[in-house]
Amino acid sequence: MQEKIKLAGKVVCLKCGTPIKDERAELCENCARIKRQFTQVKALYQYTKDMKESMYRFKYGNRRCYAKTFAKHSIHYYGDWIKDNKIEAIIPVPMYKEKKKTWI
Ligand SMILES: [Zn+2]
Repeated sequence: MQEKIKLAGKVVCLKCGTPIKDERAELCENCARIKRQFTQVKALYQYTKDMKESMYRFKYGNRRCYAKTFAKHSIHYYGDWIKDNKIEAIIPVPMYKEKKKTWI
C-alpha cells in the first residue's frame, strides 16, 4: 500500500489542503475563486485513484492494518499542528450512500 499512496506534500492550499505548485500562493485556484463553507482542511494524501481505493478498503473492507500507516503519517506531518490547535478529534469524511454504490 505504502508505495501507491502519495503524500499531499508541504506546498498545499491553506484552506483545502490541495497540493499547489506556486510556493508563494496561499490558496489553490478553486479556494481563491470560491467562498468555502469550512475554515480549514488538512489533507494528508493526494486523492489519487490508488488512495481512493485504499480509503475504501480501510473504511469498508476491514483493512484496519492501514490505520497504523495513516496514524504514523498524521502524527509525523500534523502532530505539532494538532497539539498547537488543541484538536480533540479527527474524523473521516463519510462516504454517502450513492457514492458507495459505485464502489460495489
Ligand atoms: Zn484550496
